[in-house]
Amino acid sequence: MTEWSRSMTRITATLRATRGEGLSFSWHGRSISILLSILVSASLVLAGQGVTGSVNPTGALTPLERRVCSRLKKQTIRSVTQKLASTEMEGRGTATAGGERAARYLAEQFTRWRLKPLGDNGSYLQAIRFRASQVSADTTLRVGKRDLRYGPDFVLAPPLPADGTVVKGELVFVGYGVVSTGHGRDDLVGLDLKDKIVVLMRGTPQGVDEAAWKKVSGRQTVFGRILGQGPAALIITNAGLSEQPYSLLAGYMTRRSVALNSSPAPLFKAPPVVITSDRGAEDLFSGLTTSYGALRSKAENGEFVSQPLAKAATLSVRVRQEEAIGSNVAAVVEGGDPALRDQAVVFSAHYDAFGSGPDGRIYPGAADNALGVGTMLSIAQAFAKSRVCPRRSIIFLAVTGEEHGLLGAEHWVSHPTWPMEKICAAINFDGVGTETYGIVRRIVGFGAEYSDLGETLRWAASATDNIVLPDPLPEEQAFYRSDHYAFVKKGIPALMLMGAPQMERTALISRVKKWLVTDYHQTSDIVRPEWNWEGPRRLAVVGLLMGMRIAAADALPSWWPSAPFRRSAAAAPR
Ligand SMILES: [Zn+2]
Repeated sequence: MTEWSRSMTRITATLRATRGEGLSFSWHGRSISILLSILVSASLVLAGQGVTGSVNPTGALTPLERRVCSRLKKQTIRSVTQKLASTEMEGRGTATAGGERAARYLAEQFTRWRLKPLGDNGSYLQAIRFRASQVSADTTLRVGKRDLRYGPDFVLAPPLPADGTVVKGELVFVGYGVVSTGHGRDDLVGLDLKDKIVVLMRGTPQGVDEAAWKKVSGRQTVFGRILGQGPAALIITNAGLSEQPYSLLAGYMTRRSVALNSSPAPLFKAPPVVITSDRGAEDLFSGLTTSYGALRSKAENGEFVSQPLAKAATLSVRVRQEEAIGSNVAAVVEGGDPALRDQAVVFSAHYDAFGSGPDGRIYPGAADNALGVGTMLSIAQAFAKSRVCPRRSIIFLAVTGEEHGLLGAEHWVSHPTWPMEKICAAINFDGVGTETYGIVRRIVGFGAEYSDLGETLRWAASATDNIVLPDPLPEEQAFYRSDHYAFVKKGIPALMLMGAPQMERTALISRVKKWLVTDYHQTSDIVRPEWNWEGPRRLAVVGLLMGMRIAAADALPSWWPSAPFRRSAAAAPR
C-alpha cells in the first residue's frame, strides 16, 4: 500500500468525520546447524515434556526442539521461493489466475506433508470475494483542446471514481494550497473552489523552516481544507519526491487495485484526485501567459501564484471492475494435549504479490514475500517430518491480498477457520530479503516490545547464537504494515520476524533503503543467484522455536501492561 493511498484513505475518512458520517474503514515490513542427536521412537511424542510452564523460556533447546529444527530444510525455502517467484505464477496477483495457481501449489505442499486442512469444507483453501478495479487507458483528461495521456501525463489516486464518471470544471490554481497565519500566507484567499477543478502543487518554498512547513502543508491538512470547499476534482502537480518520483507513483496507480467485496462502498463520494507528471502539468498550463515552470519558480521564491486559469478541463474516467475469488491457504498441526489442543499459535506469511502490470510485465515478489512463505513452509514441513506433536495446535496461514491492505488476514480474523478466542499468538514472516544477505545473526521482532513474545524471541535468539535488534527503520512503521497487525487489532499478541547477517548498521540500512527504491514492489524483485539460503533457514529456526515454546508453555502470551493493545476479556483463550 503506497503512502498516497494510505493518506487518501485517511483524508476521505477525515472529510467524512467533518461531515459527521460514521467512521469505519480498514488498509507495506527473515540458522545454526543443529545436530540432531536424539532420535526418539517413530511414534508421535508430545512436545513440551521437560519444558517449563512459564512463557519466559530459558535454557538450552530440548531434544524435541532439536529434532524439529533438524528437519528444517533450506532447500525447501529455496524451492518454494523460486516456484512462487517464477513466471508460471504470473506475480501471484490477488484473486487472479496466477494467484490461485500459487494457492493450489501451497495446498499441494500441505497435502504432501499431510498437514490437516484448515480452509473451507475440509480443504486448505478459504475463498474470499474480492472486487478488482483497474483504470483503463482510455481514461482522458482534456484541457482546452489538448488531451493529456493516462499514465505518462496523469494517473488517478485512490479511491477510484466509478466507471463512467465525467467531471467538467473551470481550472483554479491554488499554488501550495497552504493557509497559515504563522507563515503569513493564504493560498486560497479570494478563490471560489466550489465545483471547480482545483490544481494544487506539492513542494516547499525556499527559505522556510522545513519542519514548520511540513506541519501546515501536510496532505491531510491541505487536501482536507480544499475538499471541504466542494471542488469537482483535484489535480496535483509536482507530487513526486526524490525517492518516490512520479514514474514510481504512476507505476503503482496504474496497477489493478483490489478490495474485499464485503467492504462497504464509501458513504461519501470523494471528488476524483488526479496526479500529473511534470510534462502533464506543463500541458495543463499551456497557452497561459505564464508557464507552469515559471509559476513553480515564482512559488518557490515565495510569491503568491494562486489564480483562476481561465480554461476548463474534462475528466472522463473508465475503470474495468470485476468480482473475483482469491484464497487464503491454511493448514494445522493439531496439538496433543487435551487441555490445550484447542488453542493455537498462528504462523502467517502473505503469498500475494502485484501480479502483472498494464504493460504485461510480471511482479515476481521474490523477497516480498515469496521468501517469507518459503520460510513459513519450511517450518510446516519440519513439524510434519519430525512427527512431533505440540501441546497446543500450530496453524500455518498463507494469506492473499496483503499488498492491498492486509485483506486476506483481515478476512481470516473476521471469518476465522479456528476460533479467534483460541488463538494465543501470531508470528508473521514478511520482508525485504535481508535474510539472504548472508548467515543471519541478527533478528528484528517488529512488535516484540509490546508483549512477552519479546522474551520468547530473546530466548530463541540466544539459544541459536543470534542477537535481537530493535526496528532499524522505525519511520517505515513496518509493525503496522503486515498481516500480524490484523491479529494485533483483535488483541492477540503478535509480531513479525526479519533477520539479517552481522553487519554495520549503517551498511544494512543503506542496503535496505536502496532496495526499497530499486526493487520494492517492482518487476526487479527477483531471486538473485547470490542469495544465501542459510540466512532464511536460521530465521526459520528462531520462528519455529518460538512457536514450539509458546505451544508448550502452561501460561499464555500476554501484552505488557504498558502496551497500547489489549485482548478483550471475551477474546481471552480459556
Ligand atoms: Zn510484503
